[in-house]
Amino acid sequence: MRFLVCPVCGSTNIYYEAGMIEGQKYKCNDCGYVGSFIIEMDEKEYQRFIEEKKSSRQ
Ligand SMILES: [Zn+2]
Repeated sequence: MRFLVCPVCGSTNIYYEAGMIEGQKYKCNDCGYVGSFIIEMDEKEYQRFIEEKKSSRQ
């Protein structure tokens, strides 16, 4: 399984929006980011990412 992760806030609350001229686009429902750049991770990478996020917050 692949996860789409927002490059701004790290959320996986990502929606795919079909672009017209620019090509593919994604929208983050958490921070409002819209763009064609998105981080793709598999399950292992995503879990590591979440762990790092947690520990960097403290
Ligand atoms: Zn976001």
